[in-house]
Formats: sequence, C-alpha cells, structure tokens
Amino acid sequence: MTYVPYHEKGTITLLAGPCSIEDAEQMEAVGEALERAGLRWIRGGAFKPRTSPYSFQGLGEEGLRLITDVGRRHGLKTITEIVDTAHIDLVLKYVDALQIGTRNMANFELLKAIGQATAEGHQPILFKRGMAATIDEWLSAAEYLTMGGNPNVMLCERGLRTFETATRFTLDISAVPVIHKRSLLPICVDASHPAGQVDLVPSLAKAAVAAGCDALMIEVHPNPAKAKSDGPQQLTIPQFEELLAELRLIAAAVGKTIV
Ligand code: PEP
Ligand code: MN
Repeated sequence: MTYVPYHEKGTITLLAGPCSIEDAEQMEAVGEALERAGLRWIRGGAFKPRTSPYSFQGLGEEGLRLITDVGRRHGLKTITEIVDTAHIDLVLKYVDALQIGTRNMANFELLKAIGQATAEGHQPILFKRGMAATIDEWLSAAEYLTMGGNPNVMLCERGLRTFETATRFTLDISAVPVIHKRSLLPICVDASHPAGQVDLVPSLAKAAVAAGCDALMIEVHPNPAKAKSDGPQQLTIPQFEELLAELRLIAAAVGKTIV
C-alpha cells in the first residue's frame, strides 16, 4: 500500500460517492462521473452502521470488490467505513483509505487497533466527529489513532445532535476554524449527513469551502429514489455536477482548487 496523502496545500479533496455500495451499475455510473469531473476519490459504504437492524446492512466484501474495481477502472482512490476490528485486514486489502464513522468515534479499542494496523502503511484515515462529542473529546480520541503510529488522519465534521429538527443534524461550521487553530490535522466537512435533504446540501457544502475546509464529503447516487440508504440526501449526478461547478468558483475565490 503506497502512502496517499489526503491533503495538499491549496486543494480541497472531494470525497464523493454513494452512501452504500449497492451494485456494479450504480458504482460504474458514479465512478464515470467522478473521473469525468477530474476528481481523485470515490466513497461508498460496504459495512453500514444502520440505526435499525432491519435496514440494509451493506454488501460486505462484495461491496469492497465493487468499489475497488470501479476505482481501478476510473483512476480513483477509494475510501470506505470500517466498523469492526475483525474487518481491518479485509478492508485494508481492498481500499486506499479508511473512514471511522460518528457512531464509532469513542470506540477506543477500534481506534487503537486501526492506528496500529496502519502504523506501517500510513493509510489515510477519515475520522468523523461523534454526533454528541465536543471538539476536545474528538481531538483527544484522534490521538488513539496517531499514537498507534499513523499521522495521516483527517478530521471530519458531520453535524451534531441538537434540539433542532429541521435538519438531520446541526452542522457545526465553526469546527473548521477551531480545528485549524487547535490542531495540525486537516479538516473535512460532510455536507450530506447534517443536511438530510438534498436541497440543503449545496448551501452547507459552499459554506464549508468558504470557511476553509481541506476536504468535503458529498453523497451522490445515480438514482437516489431507489437508494438502499440515505436516499433523501443524495444528489443525482447532474445535481452533483452543477454543485461542483459552483464550489469550484468559491474555491477559486479562496485560492484553492477542488480535486
Ligand atoms: C457515512 O458517511 O456513510 C456515514 C455513515 O456517516 P456518519 O458516520 O457521519 O453517520
Ligand atoms: Mn449516508
């Protein structure tokens, strides 16, 4: 596994792709669009941490095969969520980068195990903030990863549980400047999960770019109405392309390019 730095100065890394990896056609449609857009990464979940045990749980290893295939064909690096220490070797066999989700931010044994398993390869880790975690708790938890020997960690703000119900979560945009002030780690903003609804995603993504994020996560699906998870918040490919054009203008205004 080669060292793939998440973040180069002057760039915003876009981590786009479907919520769940569902089938080859879905992944191909997204991969083709991302390559055409000149982007470098594709995301997709193979092991899904669903609120309900009756919801789609992900394709597991078959999903890892699908995202790896599409990544190879379209020259895209791959990132997927890891939820269990038992999956570490398997997931690392397939993808370029690991995502740790909001529900596992405080799963310290998982964090220690991932830090140690990636101490040699320095595979990038996207470390999401717990939905009810303070920035102090999040930064402290990140040290379980870096202490294990992997410094290649990017933090990801993905929205907090608050009293507000108009959005799925409340995006803490101030996490971007606070992290820049308090940490050397780069900061990603997930615009999709706090929005919960597709029409709100563009504003959150634009705010994140203007606020100085180092990376952005956006869910995109060729047919969101048929998605097996998070359908209401996933952009169609044309919606994604339109948003990307706008984001590129804002990025240029702050001296950055989106890759
Ligand atoms: C995801 O990005 O697929 C995901 C499940 O996100 P979160 O952990 O932020 O809910
Ligand atoms: Mn999702």
